[in-house]
Amino acid sequence: MAKRVTGPEIEKLIQLLAKVPGLGPRSARRAALHLIKKKDQLLGPLGHAMGEAYDKVKICSCCGNVDTIDPCTVCTDDRRDQSMIIVVEDVSDLWALERAGAMNAAYHVLGGTLSPLDGVGPDDLNIKGLIERVAKGGVREVIIAVNATVEGQTTAHYITDHLVGMDVKITRLAHGVPVGGELDYLDEGTLSAALRARTVI
Ligand SMILES: [Zn+2]
Repeated sequence: MAKRVTGPEIEKLIQLLAKVPGLGPRSARRAALHLIKKKDQLLGPLGHAMGEAYDKVKICSCCGNVDTIDPCTVCTDDRRDQSMIIVVEDVSDLWALERAGAMNAAYHVLGGTLSPLDGVGPDDLNIKGLIERVAKGGVREVIIAVNATVEGQTTAHYITDHLVGMDVKITRLAHGVPVGGELDYLDEGTLSAALRARTVI
């Protein structure tokens, strides 16, 4: 076993950092050392920010977004078209779509996708909340923006099946050629999806 080079407090910091997505043990050690070297500029403010986030973070009871208020900033924003709901798997997808800035709509975060093999069923996801939101009325369109994976598409079908019959338009993201993409490099599935989803110029 390797000899200890630092105290248990710093070891603990490294171990916890190593659990952050994108950081492995090696990057965690580097990050910890950087934080320690920048004790006043980084380590202190980061600790404070984490403590505040821990105290204040809430999951929106309406859409599943993370925020410090409930209902969240998106749900209470009356400049958004609250009659359009974009359904996403994760908060990171909500953030990505907001960065794209293409829509001024409300969201619904599922918290994952249906995956029978991993034991994830409808009750493990925020699907019931979506159906209730639509059933309440006032929703014109539900845009299903889940990932183009088998699980994502299974989830999209499940949601669609449960919204059929309600007075709402259900749409999904187009699958196809990425912006800047070259046809020769695309897989057959993407190419055929792009052809099927062709639009009139
Ligand atoms: Zn919300």
